[in-house]
Amino acid sequence: RIVYVNGDYLPEADAKISVFDRGFLFADAVYEVTSVLDGRLVDFPGHLARLHRSLGALELTTPLDDAGLEEMHRELLKRNRLTEGAVYMQVTRGAADRDFAYPASSEPGLVAFTQAKALIESPTAAKGIRVISVQDIRWARRDIKTTQLLGPSMCKMIAKKAGADDAWFVEEGFVTEGTSNNAWIITADGAIVTRNLSAAILHGITRAAVMTYAEAAGMRVEERPFTIAEAQGAAEAFITSASAFVTPVVEIDGVPLGDGAPGPVTKRLRELYIAESRARAS
Ligand code: PLP
Repeated sequence: RIVYVNGDYLPEADAKISVFDRGFLFADAVYEVTSVLDGRLVDFPGHLARLHRSLGALELTTPLDDAGLEEMHRELLKRNRLTEGAVYMQVTRGAADRDFAYPASSEPGLVAFTQAKALIESPTAAKGIRVISVQDIRWARRDIKTTQLLGPSMCKMIAKKAGADDAWFVEEGFVTEGTSNNAWIITADGAIVTRNLSAAILHGITRAAVMTYAEAAGMRVEERPFTIAEAQGAAEAFITSASAFVTPVVEIDGVPLGDGAPGPVTKRLRELYIAESRARAS
């Protein structure tokens, strides 16, 4: 793979960052993952807007402006001949002598790489996933997309060891989100429910798009917290993220939803999301 590191496009084996990079030492870094369909970027303006929100919260800056970031994404797609998958980009505060206080000035770092993945013909989406609930052990600013991901990583492993595919975080009795995705349910009367935005969850770009497309198609969307018990009794459930798109959830803590197979509304939402994203990708 050809990766991007601070201005250079290099074979991945030749790419280097400093031992003192605060992204490495403190997870003092934010990131975005933009999906790629037909060689084009899905909702890149949405990802840029959230990147700026994350950067602002941490008083971080990027070495490239928006046009430069977009050009860098396109260059990576070209150099890696990527038609379907994702581009990961990470902005770090850069290298400084180790200290909890941010350095007065440091040169921000920027790295990016591509990942090839079949997003549309996804075997996982065809089957659906099984989730277990876990206590939300993450920090209190989940609206900032930082690289501090050990909590979600540990919980994903707990889910895997329990024979499930992923975990849904629960805080004060209510589901916040999945380890790397937003959580949704569809009620018996057809309302599509996902948790309201706050610092408790990441403001998913896919979440926002699915809300827009669902409402435009005449579906009712409710933004509110829900419990695991409500989700287990729901007609359907699903997750959203840039890499999962809309992926059905077929079992929660061992309880199958409906007949245990991906539901019709979830399937329709997935098709709608893919069609709209393809039409708008640039
Ligand atoms: N929630 C968390 C914790 C995530 O890590 C992610 C994506 O990585 C999402 C939600 C979904 O966000 P998006 O749709 O922007 O990929």
